[in-house]
Amino acid sequence: MPSSVWPTLRRQLRADLPAEDFRTWFHPLRVASEDADHLVLEAPNSRFVEALEEGFRPIVDWAIADLKGPTYQVLFKSGETRTSVATPKKSSRTKSVGSPDLEGAPSSSLNPQYRFDSFVVGNSNRFASAASQAVAEKPGIAYNPLFLYGGVGLGKTHLLHAIGNRLRRAAPGTRVVYLAAEDFVNDLITSIRFERMPAFRERYRTIDVLLVDDIQFLAKKERSQEEFFHTFNVLYTRQKQIIVTSDAQPRDMADIEERLRSRFGSGLLADIQPPDLETKVAILQRKARQLQGLDLDTDVAMFIARQVHSNVRELEGLLNRVTAFASLSGVPLDLEFAKEALRDVLPEQDRPVSSAQIIKMVAHHYGLKVREIKSKSNSRQITYPRQIAMYLCKRLTEMSYPEIGRVFNGKHHSTVMYSVEQIERRRAGDERLAAQLERFTRQLS
Ligand code: ADP
Ligand code: MG
Repeated sequence: MPSSVWPTLRRQLRADLPAEDFRTWFHPLRVASEDADHLVLEAPNSRFVEALEEGFRPIVDWAIADLKGPTYQVLFKSGETRTSVATPKKSSRTKSVGSPDLEGAPSSSLNPQYRFDSFVVGNSNRFASAASQAVAEKPGIAYNPLFLYGGVGLGKTHLLHAIGNRLRRAAPGTRVVYLAAEDFVNDLITSIRFERMPAFRERYRTIDVLLVDDIQFLAKKERSQEEFFHTFNVLYTRQKQIIVTSDAQPRDMADIEERLRSRFGSGLLADIQPPDLETKVAILQRKARQLQGLDLDTDVAMFIARQVHSNVRELEGLLNRVTAFASLSGVPLDLEFAKEALRDVLPEQDRPVSSAQIIKMVAHHYGLKVREIKSKSNSRQITYPRQIAMYLCKRLTEMSYPEIGRVFNGKHHSTVMYSVEQIERRRAGDERLAAQLERFTRQLS
């Protein structure tokens, strides 16, 4: 048996973490099992596991990525409930949400926390939220299909569940089905394999409201796209409501066939933009109230909000860390405390990063000269690292798009914007790139 990675990982974590945190959270862990792709660590109980996930997940992931590459996983399990853990949770497939009589309809359950009244509306999501409400009031009539799109963690899934929850309450007889596009694909594969296609088609075609999350998952899956296209047409002709979410607008979904894109584009398109500072603060305060019964001071919320560019899920992660630390230590949650609690997970604030540092680091990593990365060359070997460098400049410095353009030999600001968007989008679907970007960010702090 190869030797365990745990002693090395432990040493790394001991170096990365304040001594006290290491002692409290990592000293008690034991190796439960280990194979080529996973290390499973056992913690004393399930609250402990939750606290580890909330407080230390990024640090552990970084450390292990450095040691074993980005696909290797560290999992935590609780020593108490031996039988129910360590097996990854199966996607909870219940029957249809709205009616018990829809035979075997593939559907995941709705999260009751994702409601309209728990969704904070700001300029960035006002339109998407209003459109979702309108559709939930008058399914099949107002806007069909409704196509919600935007970056990761901006609330698309939340809105989709909110529509489902509202309909389930207001119109209990309606057959509402929520599913991730991935579930559709898996269901299709099973149906083909067991020659149950007629039943498959029937199931999807008797739905009143179909909520499909992350449709970009159908990219390059021609057979799934074809089946979805037919399902779509049947439902649409019968004036059944279809709501779809995606990480990009139809026009930009290159790997989805044209006829499907044009169907998506034929209804109402609503985008969700990253929230502004005020909306982030409002979201934090609402979540603190709702989840912890806590009134979060505005200066604390403002501090946390400034740490996260857009992803609301990351915002929640930081909030959880701060509140968990506060409740475990019994100390009042003020600004000083929040800064202390987040010290290890945030890049150092008082040492601003410069574009020169970024360019030097990225160039070095890709074996290029600074001169080359700034050059006008359009060879892919250079443009990709250049896009990454521009992305990091945008994320880690206060520079505007035109300012960044000037650093790169007078590139037009629209080129910079395009580059940042490209990397943003790839990052969402490419774990390797995401891990690399995190390593760059860490190196700079
Ligand atoms: P997406 O599906 O766009 O990736 P999610 O809907 O999963 O994003 O949102 C990520 C997290 O952020 C969820 O916990 C969600 O409740 C929360 N969230 C996002 N936007 C808002 C908002 N405007 N108000 C309240 N919570 C939000
Ligand atoms: Mg989502």
